[in-house]
Amino acid sequence: MFENLQDKLNKAIKTLKGQGRITEINVAATIKEVRRALTDADVNYKVAKDITDRIRDKALDRKVLISVEPGQLFVKIVQEELTELMGGEAQSINIKGDPAVILIAGLQGSGKTTFSGKLASYLKKQGRNVLLVADDIYRPAAIDQLKVLGEQVGVEVYSEPENKNAVEIAQNAISQARKTGKKVVIVDTAGRLAVDEAMMREIEAVKRAINPTETLFVVDSMTGQDAVNTAKTFNDRLNFDGVVLTKLDGDARGGAALSIKTVVNKPIKFISTGEKMEALDVFYPDRMASRILGMGDVISLVERAQQAFDEDEAKRINAKMRKNQFDFDDFLSQLQQIKKMGNVKDLLGMIPGMGKMVKDLDIDNDSFKPIEAIISSMTPKERSRPEIIDGSRKKRIAAGSGTSIQQVNNLLKQFDEMRKMMKKMNTMQASGKLNKMMR
Ligand code: GDP
Repeated sequence: MFENLQDKLNKAIKTLKGQGRITEINVAATIKEVRRALTDADVNYKVAKDITDRIRDKALDRKVLISVEPGQLFVKIVQEELTELMGGEAQSINIKGDPAVILIAGLQGSGKTTFSGKLASYLKKQGRNVLLVADDIYRPAAIDQLKVLGEQVGVEVYSEPENKNAVEIAQNAISQARKTGKKVVIVDTAGRLAVDEAMMREIEAVKRAINPTETLFVVDSMTGQDAVNTAKTFNDRLNFDGVVLTKLDGDARGGAALSIKTVVNKPIKFISTGEKMEALDVFYPDRMASRILGMGDVISLVERAQQAFDEDEAKRINAKMRKNQFDFDDFLSQLQQIKKMGNVKDLLGMIPGMGKMVKDLDIDNDSFKPIEAIISSMTPKERSRPEIIDGSRKKRIAAGSGTSIQQVNNLLKQFDEMRKMMKKMNTMQASGKLNKMMR
């Protein structure tokens, strides 16, 4: 996410960062570089100019030049200004109402349906009773897609495949929600490939008829400046309440995130970073600013972990670890939970300083595939008692998983070391040594 921008900004700031003394002249040079980094990332020129002017004024005003750590102070100012640019405080969605109605708008392919599923899952995890509505009267496939997502996240989906009136479908869905005690209704509307008058009129009519508590505009961040223009058009017609930026896991240059708030004056409320249902984050401008500056975002990482991890499963595995019974089935289950958290590279990027380190590394979630294949090729007995895996078993497992004996050996070795470590910690804990060491 935002790797290019991160890279360029860091390069721009680096010269200042390391220096004990800086001059007005190199502040000016740095400002110029920062501005270029922003415009290269597709940030609107005027937005980039305004923010860098403010950074310069603040830098000169706060006596950065004579401070003890001028570089650090400068970075702090950039961080503050980026935060402000993206909207300052995080803005939540309004889900008051009986039921609360959330209208989802945007172009086709922007990620509306995927986001609707994610939002349903997110709200359900907060204990809310949600109804998803497939309000696309043009593409039957869109209804099926939402049904699949609904099933995946365990949320009911309302649809009327025969009805060709989007307003009516939305209204019927809301009455149904009232009857069945649903508290939040998410209406996924039809999009077009480009802004078109008929589509705009239809969604305007839906909005007027159902009077949503929250209208969210979904936009693909990879479309750069176009994202900002589309946002403007939709906002002029719909006066939406917030923006959802999708596909930030891609190679987005980040311009959309940085310019939308200024151009339409509506906050970004959520960001989506993958196709998985868990890849949704509430948008916090300050955390995003830190992330853009390569300072990491540990808070979001922990939140992601809390969402993905199943507490009962964690307790079960913990108990097995304590009894030295951790086996390959548990290992596989842990691996799957980690995968549920989203793209590994993206996760590593949330750790301060890591983003840069892993930038050029080729890690994707497929890296786990050989490991999963090897474990899947083991018999249940082998999984629970890996010590019985001898030469001929190794050969069979390698052949079955399409890996080499070397790979099987590596995994067995790593697993063995892991078990030894767990055992050691258990003994230490039993003898009270662990507490002493921790202290
Ligand atoms: P809609 O036409 O607006 O409903 O868009 P969809 O929800 O069908 O999404 C279009 C495509 O983008 C699908 O293939 C999704 O899986 C994919 N997609 C949606 N959100 C994201 C995201 O945050 N990251 C990535 N990489 N793909 C996404």
